[in-house]
Amino acid sequence: MKLHSVFFSVSIGFAVLAPAWASIELSKSTPAQGETIEINYKQAPEIKEGQPKSDVLLFNGQSFKLFPVSEDIFHCLVAMPADLKPGKYPISIGDEKCTITVKDGLFPVQNLTLPKSKNNFILSPGEEEAMNAAKAALSDKRLWQGVFTKPCQARTSAKFGLKRIVNGKLLKDYYHSGLDFAGSLGQAVYACADGKVVLAHKNFRLHGNVVAIDHGQGVVSIYIHLQKIAVKEGDVVTAGEQIGNVGATGRANGPHLHLSLYVNKVATNPMPWFSKTF
Ligand SMILES: [Zn+2]
Repeated sequence: MKLHSVFFSVSIGFAVLAPAWASIELSKSTPAQGETIEINYKQAPEIKEGQPKSDVLLFNGQSFKLFPVSEDIFHCLVAMPADLKPGKYPISIGDEKCTITVKDGLFPVQNLTLPKSKNNFILSPGEEEAMNAAKAALSDKRLWQGVFTKPCQARTSAKFGLKRIVNGKLLKDYYHSGLDFAGSLGQAVYACADGKVVLAHKNFRLHGNVVAIDHGQGVVSIYIHLQKIAVKEGDVVTAGEQIGNVGATGRANGPHLHLSLYVNKVATNPMPWFSKTF
């Protein structure tokens, strides 16, 4: 790599401090908490023949798999955790480094009343493990195309990231990990995008009846508190296909659909995905 850099800098007449051919490109360098950014990595040409020099991106103590988009360009999506302290953070791929500045998500506070029996976060045996396994789905093939389809034809009643006061008490270390749609009981719930059902489970104490869809490359949508489930694990679904109905199962104070979107195991705000192609 060194030889090429020297040759290149001499031939065009200015010094190349870092090799111009290995670079990290960010869709945004000042994302807010809860936002997803796209990262492209162009690798140096001299290692094109073999394995990529590095196929892992490091950010916030987590490693992210890079997926090829062309012969020398690799890509991944990184979600800013909603509870990540605003400030500067390094991103690195191999020897390449850059810095992003995470801004405050300015999340609102919501007042909520729950019956005593539901005012807890008690999980069913195996519930946490099943949810974590679904969130961790990481299949190589990108299955979604274009913008996401809204999963429910209803207004959104609770935004992503909001903090909550339940029965008069502010929940500590809590943020709303998805988007609530104020659908009526039994209203259809649709898949946001093409994918494969990785979880279809009934009667979880917290999540109720739940469906999770793997869209590939670390992107997973999860539909919570369903009344009925219309798919089974392993089913391949297409965007807009009905996967269940709005319910109030699990820890819910009334019928609504909670949609969570995970990008490499981190909950992200689903809203931008309905208008922008990631
Ligand atoms: Zn919710």
